[in-house]
Amino acid sequence: MKPLIPMPNRPPLKTTLTTLLNYKKRYIKTLVMKDVSNEWQTSCKGRAVYEICPKIKINRLLGNFYLNQLLTGHGVLASYQHKFFNKDPKRACGHVIEDRLHLIYQCSKWRKIRQKYFPANFSNIALPQLLQSNSVRSGLETILKQRLEESLSATEDNLQ
Ligand SMILES: [Zn+2]
Repeated sequence: MKPLIPMPNRPPLKTTLTTLLNYKKRYIKTLVMKDVSNEWQTSCKGRAVYEICPKIKINRLLGNFYLNQLLTGHGVLASYQHKFFNKDPKRACGHVIEDRLHLIYQCSKWRKIRQKYFPANFSNIALPQLLQSNSVRSGLETILKQRLEESLSATEDNLQ
């Protein structure tokens, strides 16, 4: 019996289950990225990180414990410790609020580290651009490590 519609004489389409699964994964990933990007653009949460990373890029994940505290404004920073644990926000440098901008740009305590790792004109460079430098990131990691040690030793002193 002849088919009603003549079939072109082509080789059969080669497709496998893996091809279909990869296509579906890519499609789902695209949908999720659109959804997450929309949420990131309109949310009122995570704005400290948004200032530095306004667009979602999954290849830009940063798994550095110290830098993530600085980027998020969480962790050892006195402003965070005060907000969530009602600890004294005043720092030894005399500054009332230790937030990430104070720590990065202003705090006199970390001047020598900034001189070693930061460019001379760092105060004129916005944070997202400043963080592009590997040297600056190393300096910030050094500052955060020392800041964490300082905080932990103060906690030990309070426990004794
Ligand atoms: Zn300070």
